[in-house]
This record gives sequence, C-alpha cells and structure tokens, in this order.
Amino acid sequence: MSRSVLVTGGNRGIGLAIARAFAEAGDKVAVTYRSGEPPEGLFGVRCDITDTEQVERAFKEVEAEHGPVEVLIANAGVTKDTLLLRMSEEDFTSVVDTNLTGTFRVVKRASKAMMRARKGRVVLISSVVGLTGSPGQANYAASKAGLVGFARSLARELGPRNITVNVVAPGFVDTDMTAVLSDERRAEIVAGVPLGRYAAPDEIASTVRFLSSDDGRIHHRSRHSRRRRIGHGSLTIMSGILEGKRILVTGLLMESSIAFQVAKLAQEQGAEIILTAFPRPSLTERIAKKLPKPAKVLELDVTNQEHLDGLAEQVREHLGSLDGVVHSIGFAPQDALGGNFLNTPWESVATAVHVSAFSLKSLAMACLPLMEDGGSIVGLTFDATIAWQQYDWMGPAKAALEATSRYLARDLGKQNIRCNLVSAGPIKSMAAKSIPGFDVLADAWNTRSPLSWEVTDPEPAGRGVVALLSDWFPKTTGEIVHVDGGLHAIGA
Ligand code: NDP
Repeated sequence: MSRSVLVTGGNRGIGLAIARAFAEAGDKVAVTYRSGEPPEGLFGVRCDITDTEQVERAFKEVEAEHGPVEVLIANAGVTKDTLLLRMSEEDFTSVVDTNLTGTFRVVKRASKAMMRARKGRVVLISSVVGLTGSPGQANYAASKAGLVGFARSLARELGPRNITVNVVAPGFVDTDMTAVLSDERRAEIVAGVPLGRYAAPDEIASTVRFLSSDDGRIHHRSRHSRRRRIGHGSLTIMSGILEGKRILVTGLLMESSIAFQVAKLAQEQGAEIILTAFPRPSLTERIAKKLPKPAKVLELDVTNQEHLDGLAEQVREHLGSLDGVVHSIGFAPQDALGGNFLNTPWESVATAVHVSAFSLKSLAMACLPLMEDGGSIVGLTFDATIAWQQYDWMGPAKAALEATSRYLARDLGKQNIRCNLVSAGPIKSMAAKSIPGFDVLADAWNTRSPLSWEVTDPEPAGRGVVALLSDWFPKTTGEIVHVDGGLHAIGA
C-alpha cells in the first residue's frame, strides 16, 4: 500500500537515506529541504522548520501532490557545538528552536489529518547524545532529550486515535553533521562504540521504516531492545519463531524461488536476513524489494573460492553473526538433464555435483566463523533415494547433497550446528523450468500424492525450512524432512 510520507531534512544525510528507503518500498515520498536543490527523483518542498508559515505552506504543497501526510519523519536537525561558557543564548535557543520546537511545529501540523483519518505514524529522530550527554553539546543534547518527553506525551495523547509516535536515537552516523568532527574526536567516539564503527544512514533508515510499518504498531523501548512495549503498558516478547535470529539465505532469484518464501517467512517470523545472489545481484535486489523488510544482497558464486573467503567479513559487517544458513542452490548443465543420462560427459556431471552438493560444505565452512553460538543449516533436496524421469544427473547430485548434509551434521554437531534438508515436491521455480520434461516428473504428484500438491506454491517448502531454522527442532540433525505431500511414503 502506497502511503503519503514526509521526511523533514530529507535532502541529505540520514533524512535522504530514510526518504529513499520509503520510495524504494513504493511509498509516495516528499522531503523538505532548506537550502540547495531537492534530491533527484523525490518530491521536494522548500521549508525552514523554524518558521510556522513555511511549515504550513510545505504541508499544503505535499497534500496537493500526495494527499494528507500519513507517515511523518521529523528528521531535520542542527548542531552548534561549543562549551557552556562560550555558548551564547542564541546558540542555545536556535538549536532548540530547530530540533525541538521545529519538530513540534511539523508534528502538530501533521497530526490534524492523522487524527481525522484515525491513523498515522510519526517517528522523531533524536540522538544517543540526548540520553548520554556530550561535552560541548548541551544545546543539542537538551533538544534531543526533549524529543523523548515530547514523544512519550504524544504517544499517550494520540495512541487512542491509532497514531503511533516513536523516537529513534541513532549513535554516531557518517553524514555531513559528523564530518566536521576532528579525527581525534572521531577516534574517541569509535572507541566507545561496541561495533567499533559509525553507523551508515541506511541502517537508521531500516529501523525508521519498521517503526512506520504495520509491524511497528508498538512503542519501542530502544533501538537494540528485543523486548517491545505493546499498546499501553504490557511488556511482551515477540512471538515469531525466528525472533532475534540472523539468517543468510542463498538462491533467491525470482518470486517463485523457494528461497523467496524462506526469506519472506523468516522476516515475518522476526529474523533479520541477508541474501546472496548469483549471477547478478541486481536481479535479486529487485525481487528482494517485494520482501516485507529490506535485505542486503551480497554477490556469491559458491564455486568461487574468493567469494567464499570474503563472505564472513561482509556478513559480519551487515549482520554481525549468523544463527542460520539456507542453501537453496542447484544447477546442472542442459546435457545432464532430460533423458541424456547415458551420454552426459563428466565435465557436466562435475559441474552439477560442485554447484549442487559440494557447495553445501563450502557454504557451511564459509559461514562457520559467524556461528560461534551454534546454529542451523538447511538445504533443499529432491528425493534422491529413487530414480526420476528426466531428472538424470541432478539425481546423483542430490544424493551427494543428502550424504554431504549427514557428514556435516556429524562434523559440526560438536559446535552445536545442525544440518538438515527439506525434501520438497516439485515446484515450478526457475530451476525447475530448466529441466526439460518437468511436467512429466510433476505428474506423479497429481496421481499419487496423499495431500494435494500445487506445483506453483513454494510456501509449504519455505515453511519447512523456517521450522528447521527455528529452535523447535533443537535435537534434529542429519535429517531429511519431506515436504512433498507425503508422496515419498506411497508405492505405485
Ligand atoms: P545533516 O547535517 O546531513 O542533515 C541535516 C538536515 O536537516 C538537512 O537536510 C538540513 O537541511 C535539515 N535542516 C537543518 N535545519 C533545518 C531547518 N531549520 N529547517 C529545515 N531543515 C533543516 O545531518 P544528519 O543526516 O546527520 O542528521 C539528521 C538527523 O539525525 C538530525 O536530527 C540529527 O540530529 C540526527 N542524528 C545524527 C547523527 C549523526 O551522527 N549524524 C546521530 C544521531 C542523530 P539543509 O540541507 O537545507 O541544511
């Protein structure tokens, strides 16, 4: 659903990253800019939030273009750092007038239409400095701390009208605002940050988008808290079976991919995910936009040792560690499929085994440094205990995958890492379309499957994978769970 979103100070820095994230998700986004030019591709209205008349004019322009503002991100802010004794009254009041009173002006104006509509999302951008204080920033810290009291009051006042008001308090973020700090001060700041780095504007944007979504119908306690305050008071732990888990998902190529279902369900169940793509990250990035939440895409060819060697560091940068890895990769050259079994050359068989089976071991080893607390690896197979029409050398490749999974279960169990497979019935994904005579193979399910089977529905397989990634299979490893309508259990 496309909503009318307004981001103040959305022409650069954190505001621009937030605006772009909403636009990419399909919302109608307007930004205010005080100086310079509006950013390309976004609807810009000139507005200084210290001037009530300009705020009024800006809202009218946005309403004429996109309709009443449904999501307001009050992001515009300034610093004027100096030590207290040197801080003039103007230094103090001008910062408060922009950061706190300016926020009051825009929220007040936006709230009118939100109250009429009986819904709305407001996110205020504060700062950790408002909570911790910082020498030389008494004016800034006071204004940012003020936002917290402002938001808490509004949450009580506007909550009954279905309007949520939340505050995001970023740590230090790489933008123009922090570019003016001396190298010495930057080093001091980074030394105090557990991750040892500044945040990127995109990272703030995803939190803001979450709080503005339907999933964000709650009042957050803090950015990093896993506990959320729901409604007015009760402290609840989210119930998704992957809540708090970080999961790497390979093989997301199309919306029909099993991996797409896995990624979607995993996010819905509370996981943070990272995707890998082959051959083109751009394709996966485009499809990933259809997921409930944004997900970073990394390039990974599982047969490329350089890619594998660099994977852990890249994942660490974006997610930290991993609790789960999904192997949803299979490939055989055309001459290894479709009835050519007796004439397939070794090179084609070797490719099929390398990409489809050995890669489970390669991927597991590449992710191992990120799974120090244990975890779950889940792959996808197609029952390799029997021979299928047309499937040819993918059969032995899947048999190798099934054996590889058992050996990984044997060798990684000591580190509390489980390795299991879902044996799925036929699904008309991109991989299946490349199997000549796929329909012949799928026909067995029309006649013999105990449960009805839909070749266009990858969700049941996705659910099986998510269940194995969760803590609900804590002592299961080296296993193959059939999600095939029960056909494997039935004779002719
Ligand atoms: P930037 O300096 O990059 O951007 C600030 C934005 O605010 C600009 O778009 C600017 O518009 C706008 N702005 C400033 N004053 C006014 C005004 N009077 N009226 C309208 N717009 C105004 O900063 P960041 O992106 O880093 O910061 C964005 C928000 O995040 C701020 O509220 C900041 O306090 C907060 N924050 C930043 C952190 C960081 O480390 N960078 C950490 C924690 C919080 P213009 O371009 O026209 O000047």
